[in-house]
Amino acid sequence: MYNFLMKKLYIETLGCQMNKSDSERIAGILSHFGYEETNLEKEADLLIINTCSIRQLSTDKAYSKLGVWGKRKKSKPDIKIGICGCVAQQDKEKIRQRAPYVDLIFGTHNIYELPTLIKRVEADEKVCAITSKPVNSNWNDFKILRKDNVNAWVPIIEGCNNFCTYCVVPFTRGRERSRQPEEIITEVKNIIAEGFKEITLLGQNVDSYGKDFNDKNITLANLLRELNKLEGQFRIRFVTSYPSDITDDLINAVDECEKVCKYFHIPMQSGNSRILKEMNRHYTKSEYYEIVAKIRNRFPDVAITSDFIAGFPGETEEEFQDTLNAMEELKLDYSNTAAYSPRVFTKAGQMTDKFISEDIKYERLERLNQKNREVCLKSNEKFVGKILKVLVESKTEKDNIITLNSRADNNKIVHFIDNSKQAGDFAKVKITKAQTWCLYGEPVD
Ligand code: SF4
Repeated sequence: MYNFLMKKLYIETLGCQMNKSDSERIAGILSHFGYEETNLEKEADLLIINTCSIRQLSTDKAYSKLGVWGKRKKSKPDIKIGICGCVAQQDKEKIRQRAPYVDLIFGTHNIYELPTLIKRVEADEKVCAITSKPVNSNWNDFKILRKDNVNAWVPIIEGCNNFCTYCVVPFTRGRERSRQPEEIITEVKNIIAEGFKEITLLGQNVDSYGKDFNDKNITLANLLRELNKLEGQFRIRFVTSYPSDITDDLINAVDECEKVCKYFHIPMQSGNSRILKEMNRHYTKSEYYEIVAKIRNRFPDVAITSDFIAGFPGETEEEFQDTLNAMEELKLDYSNTAAYSPRVFTKAGQMTDKFISEDIKYERLERLNQKNREVCLKSNEKFVGKILKVLVESKTEKDNIITLNSRADNNKIVHFIDNSKQAGDFAKVKITKAQTWCLYGEPVD
């Protein structure tokens, strides 16, 4: 089963944290078959691109990378090229036509088939494994080669049932599937034993965790309670939340569990109820406002971050103004922003008669980004003079001064100087200065 001469594996990962987590699993599985990960594309025997199709730009990047690798294969025919992730899931025929030199195409549901797929590739077969349903496996059967030493990402639910009209995820990742709580708890125990200090529970719609089980006690709130009981100094986050799925029980659990960070990432997408309906988001503007108010009343130093789309088909200037106003009125701590990008399979992608011109879309995006900068700075300024508990993630050295880069429980980035601390240490920091994207402070006892 094992090849004792190590071969080099290079994985390029595009897109979200779920993809990054998948790449860590892919590297872990392939390490059982003699592949050692490298950061150098040029020395790789096996090159894999793990793709994202959330926007056209990411899809274009994937094809462009395949083109570069295809040229390399002409002079080095023994190298193998693979593609996986959302573009592979939706585009297998196109990939075969555009990049016939690709040796391995596998979908988001087929990662755990890699042990057999890789043997076929090594026997010079062109392999394509795309299924619409996941190939079952115990996730803990294979090791995971985590890229970070402090933060570990743990998918707890995959797929999505929401079918927002702009989003391709339900088509590429399938319907919601939760992992068994015991399997997650075992993985988290191992992570803590390995010395990781922050565990982020991942899901496209993380608050839906457990809804696909008959046992109604299996919920995200109860999973947080179980993980909070584990011994050790570590903290827990969860992303991404769907606004109307944030229950009172989940808010109570975040409150009860001292290891759970007071931080919520809740994409709003638009501040206008008509556009939210067109997007098939199951909440109105005022319902979103109520959720944010409820969370802020419970946790005074909470950070709430969001996602917004500028220029959804049919969005008027007035409706776009509602989005700008929402960002400001809700005092959001940070927002990811994007211009609307039509995706295949999606309903919004077919609303061609309502498409907004690129000029208007990008002009709105620029105004959204400007509002984001203003609101983020105001949010950060609130913390000047406060003491935040942070986890050191890394350090940078400039002019012989070492600065620690850390993140507060509420996800704010905090820089400070303390020669007694290193990555993985917790510290208390008094905030002395706020900038748009980060805070500065000094350590306190
Ligand atoms: S909730 Fe909507 S945007 Fe998020 S993954 Fe599901 S379909 Fe996509």
